[in-house]
Amino acid sequence: MSLIFVVRDQESTVYAEVAELLLKSGKWRKAQSKNTPKFHLLFGERNGLKFGKLGHEPGLLQAVNYYRGNGLICRKVQLTQMLKATCSHPHEQTHERVQNEHEQHGCQSWYPTSFVIHPTTEGTPESSSLSVKERMMMAHKVREDEREDFQRVQRLMKEKREGSVWIAKSSAGAKGKGLLVSEDADTLLNFIDSQSFSHVIQKYIEKPLLLPGSRKFDIRCWAVLDHTYTIHLFKEGVLRTSAECYNAGDYSNTISHITNHCIQQEYSENFGKYEEGNEMFYEEFDRFLDKYYKTSLELSILPQIRHIIKYCLLACQENLDTKHLSYHSFQLFGFDFMLDDALRVWLLEVNGAPACAKKLLPRLANGIMSTVINPIFFPEEQHEPHQDFEVL
Ligand code: ADP
Repeated sequence: MSLIFVVRDQESTVYAEVAELLLKSGKWRKAQSKNTPKFHLLFGERNGLKFGKLGHEPGLLQAVNYYRGNGLICRKVQLTQMLKATCSHPHEQTHERVQNEHEQHGCQSWYPTSFVIHPTTEGTPESSSLSVKERMMMAHKVREDEREDFQRVQRLMKEKREGSVWIAKSSAGAKGKGLLVSEDADTLLNFIDSQSFSHVIQKYIEKPLLLPGSRKFDIRCWAVLDHTYTIHLFKEGVLRTSAECYNAGDYSNTISHITNHCIQQEYSENFGKYEEGNEMFYEEFDRFLDKYYKTSLELSILPQIRHIIKYCLLACQENLDTKHLSYHSFQLFGFDFMLDDALRVWLLEVNGAPACAKKLLPRLANGIMSTVINPIFFPEEQHEPHQDFEVL
């Protein structure tokens, strides 16, 4: 008898690959209808997944590829609020494992100073059509709004010459859309107030580490959280590079500042000039680090990355864990980082449904199947640690 999986998310290239592998294994078949309640494994929809319906089929062990409440780290506003809470009140808010390991180093050293700003909605088309309840919610948000703190810190840092550039990011945004980089506090606040989504205003990393050709980049790492809440870090990652020279004086030059793949592909005439698809992999980056900085990823970068990923996932464990529930969750996360010119790693955001660089996809998918899915459904089998993953 084979096990049954359901695919509700047609967009995930990662889970399409995992599904192929499951079929090839001969132990699984795909459900005819995506609405059948009789399944073992659900590749669920990214938004609106009905967690409450899981785990109620008699005799069926069910698992889903998302953790309920993952927005806590995958939405920029919530991530900012959670990190602030865990950093400023470690004794009250932070999970014990996080507290012990990271007490001396708050997230201030790896999450750029950030403020949550809710648009006033004045002047937006939505404002006139708000119901009483919505207006009350807006009033509550105004109280949470950190614009005064932002203005104060922005002035202070400018005076002390600790940096003057900030970036506004929409909490609902992705793929480099809805961003504004500026030195002017009013410009940033007006930008947010003219929209209807909450934003984060974050300190801009003004001195990024640059690749040959003076080019900025970010790093994407993948980590899978299994059903026992063990973190498995994929040993490969990818640098998403800009194909343009970094222009510190001109923040309107999007392609030199915003390294998202979509932005580079759409707007840069030089897309692919330096690296195929503007992607550099660890091996080449290691050669760069060795040549210019006499160090390596393992020595200088990966320890920071491991620390940050562990901190974020453990800090929200109490809210996410499914140990007490009648179904299992697991989830693949994409962590996006930047490096500054002192080789310090900064967390930019966490993606809850990440895509994967084509070159790495087969290995990532294989790892998800053998490290995360097989141990749930075939616990009696011997599961050797996967060569492409390390446990954090
Ligand atoms: P998105 O969800 O749109 O991908 P990100 O937070 O990942 O938003 O930002 C997109 C890009 O903007 C990053 O890849 C990076 O190039 C740039 N960026 C974001 N935040 C910062 C920052 N604090 N300092 C410098 N550059 C940043």
